[in-house]
This record gives sequence, C-alpha cells and structure tokens, in this order.
Amino acid sequence: MTDLVIVGAGLFGLTIAQQASEKLNAKVQIVDIRDHIGGNAYSYFDEETGIEIHKYGAHLFHTSNKRVWEYVNRFTKFTDYVHRVYTTHNGEVFPLPINLGTINQFFRAAYSPMEAQALIAQQAGEYADVDPQNLNDQGIKLIGKPLYEAFIKNYTGKQWQTDPSELPASIIRRLPVRFNYNNRYFKDTYEGLPADGYTKWFERMIDDPNITVTLGTDFFDDSQPLSKKALRGNVPIVYTGPIDRYFDYELGTLKWRTVDFKEHRFDEVDHLGCPVMNYADADVPFTRSIEFKNFNPERTDVAAQKKTVVWDEYSRFAGRDDDPYYPVNTDEDREMFAKYAAMEKAEPNMVFGGRLGGYAYFDMHQTINSALIAFEKQVEPLLKK
Ligand code: FAD
Ligand code: UDP
Repeated sequence: MTDLVIVGAGLFGLTIAQQASEKLNAKVQIVDIRDHIGGNAYSYFDEETGIEIHKYGAHLFHTSNKRVWEYVNRFTKFTDYVHRVYTTHNGEVFPLPINLGTINQFFRAAYSPMEAQALIAQQAGEYADVDPQNLNDQGIKLIGKPLYEAFIKNYTGKQWQTDPSELPASIIRRLPVRFNYNNRYFKDTYEGLPADGYTKWFERMIDDPNITVTLGTDFFDDSQPLSKKALRGNVPIVYTGPIDRYFDYELGTLKWRTVDFKEHRFDEVDHLGCPVMNYADADVPFTRSIEFKNFNPERTDVAAQKKTVVWDEYSRFAGRDDDPYYPVNTDEDREMFAKYAAMEKAEPNMVFGGRLGGYAYFDMHQTINSALIAFEKQVEPLLKK
C-alpha cells in the first residue's frame, strides 16, 4: 500500500521521499513524466567523450546552510570545484562577478578598493539613495550606470526579454559585487560538484525498498493509475509540477523563460579556457557558453583528451509545452501566483512545493532546504493523521 505519492523526481520530490521513508518508514511512490530522475539537475555522461553533461543547463552546487550541506554529504562526496565566470564585452574578456579587477580593466585604472567604491557611488547618481524595487534600480545602485550598461543591461535583455524595471531586484542580488580582486562567483560557505556526477547522488537518495519510481508517466494523463483523477483525495500527494497546470490554467498562465541549447563539438583540449563564458553584448544572440569538461578538471583522462563539448544558451519565453526554467515574476505573475497559492488550501491532503510548484527561482540548496522544512511542517503531520 502506498502512503505517499510524489509528483516529480526533482530535488524537492527526492528529498521528501527520502525523509518520509527514513523518518516514518512510509511507502512512497514517485511519478515523473521524464525518463529519468533528478529533474532539472539531472546529468549524464556523454558516450563519445565521457564528459558529464548537465542536460538542462549548468548546475553548480553551493550553500551556506550547514544543515543542507550535511544532508547532501550523506549521499555524495563533493569535489573542490570553485565556480568562476568570465564575460566578453566589446571584444574583450572581463572577470565576473563585478570585482575590482573588472572595474580597473573597464576604466583602464588602478583604483584602490576605497577609490572604486567612491567612483561607483558617484556613478550610481540618484539611484544611490533609492530603496531598489526592481532589477534596473538595484543594478545601477550596486555598480553605477557605465558598468550596468556594459555588463548587465544587454545580458539581462537577452535572458529575460522583459523591461528590467519590471523584474524583481532579487535576480541581480544573486550576484556579489566586490571591491577586491576575489572573483569567486558565489559567496556561499560551501561549494563543490558531486564527485561521481549528479545522477549517482540522486540514485543514492532513493536507494531504498520503501521508494518506488515510475518514469515516463504524466500525472495529468487520466488513462493511467498514477493520475490526478485517480489519486486526488484518496492518498496524500506532494506535487512539484507547475502550479498553474495543476489548476488547468484557470486563472491564466504564469510566465517562464526556457533555454535552447546549441551543441558544438571541437577536437581541442580546451575551447573556452574556462567553464562558463558570458556574452554581455546584444550582437551575440546567446547569453553564455558552457564547456562541461572544465567543471571537472579532477577527471584527468577526460580533461586531457583532444575533444570537448560546448553548449550555447539561447533564452526565450516558454510555451506550455516547453520546459519552464526561470520564473519571470513580474507584478502580474506574482498576483496570479498568490491566487493559485490560495486555491491550494482547498485541495485535500496535498502539499505543493519546489521551483515549479512554488513559482520560485530556487537554487538546489534552497530547494532542498524548503523540502526539509515542508516535510516537517506539512508532510509529516499529513502522514501521521
Ligand atoms: P525540477 O527539478 O524542475 O523537478 C520537477 C519534476 O517534476 C521534473 O522532473 C518534471 O519532469 C516533473 N513533472 C512536472 N510535471 C509533471 C507531470 N505532469 N507529471 C509527472 N511529473 C511531472 N541550482 C543551483 O543550485 N545551481 C545552479 O547552478 C543552477 N543552475 C540552474 C540552471 C538552470 C538552467 C535551471 C533551470 C535551474 C538551475 N538551478 C541551479 C536550479 C535547480 O535546477 C533547482 O533548484 C532544482 O532542480 C529544483 O528542483 P525541483 O524538484 O523543485 O524541480
Ligand atoms: N546577469 C547579467 N550579466 C551577467 C550575468 C548575470 O546581467 O554577465 C544578470 C542577469 O539578469 C541574470 C542574473 O544576473 O539573469 C543572475 O545571474 P546568474 O548567473 O545567477 O543566472 P543563472 O545562472 O541563474 O542563469
């Protein structure tokens, strides 16, 4: 007998399944429409080169949350990979995130940290004193107008195709700005990549006789037994698919961005010289290129071979049949989401969560943290009822 059905084998669903089995000895049935577990964080090893490819775009693990770090370390070892990103602007390569190296290269100067801070404050002009409510104001406040226009404006235009003054300020606050030469992309305490790949990590989370996974199965396909129609109200369900889809788009469609990947293969040891190269200018139609082998320099045989795989990322609005990747989160979207969230409360024995269920720009560590909390606060009480 099944105690809990989980729709979605992404990190939210896997974490809930693992906790339900471990803490309550519950029998868990996971269902996913895709033919693999791991959701958007899934990766596979390329047959030709042995390079680990992150199928839905580059995934770098980082967190400052000790509980999450200890939790994930139960299932995988992490490499000592530290993420660094470069960006091309006007035919020149600059380090990201914006740091003293970027500032001094851009202004052809040798400013000290204090001098650079004073310059940026001056270049932020009237934005220096505003409480930024959107990406545009936040971006200019953080780095001043010239740097914003060079490195943020056009990249953001390609990534979101939405006026930056309609986008939330939180999108840009993901990135640190540093007045020293530290070009670590993330500011978190812990960072690394799963030593034997993402999928091994996820497999270990659910390597458990209590947990069954059924793949290639759509929760909204009424012709199969693990469907909304058959299960709703009859068994506790954790739903991690798109929230508007669950309610048949009754209040409208929430806006998402998706990404198309264009693959290139080169007979070269190293094509970009780094794992991620962003393209800040509007004349390059894609946002960034990813050279997967450069995420894993410790896999020395794979790294040394004269073959490499590079993916260029093209961002566009997602249709209903596309993979939803980034929630656009305009005011209109947030109002619609709030109404859907209110409708959830009337659903019997249901918990909604994850990046799609919560319409949230969650990184993996935030997804895991929110799943651990949702388990304690919502799923455990439901299963003990
Ligand atoms: P998902 O991983 O989306 O899983 C949801 C699952 O539900 C999917 O497997 C889907 O197939 C399934 N599903 C949906 N509808 C149905 C249905 N009708 N029936 C059955 N199953 C269904 N995080 C980081 O920490 N670092 C990064 O560098 C990073 N990079 C990212 C890059 C991109 C391009 C994207 C999109 C995300 C990135 N993330 C990153 C975020 C990370 O992917 C998420 O935090 C995490 O995967 C969310 O897990 P989830 O379980 O909420 O959702
Ligand atoms: N961003 C930018 N220029 C860059 C890198 C990032 O303008 O070179 C902005 C852009 O709006 C992007 C946001 O900062 O969506 C967050 O960047 P991040 O690299 O965290 O995006 P993700 O990896 O989630 O796609």
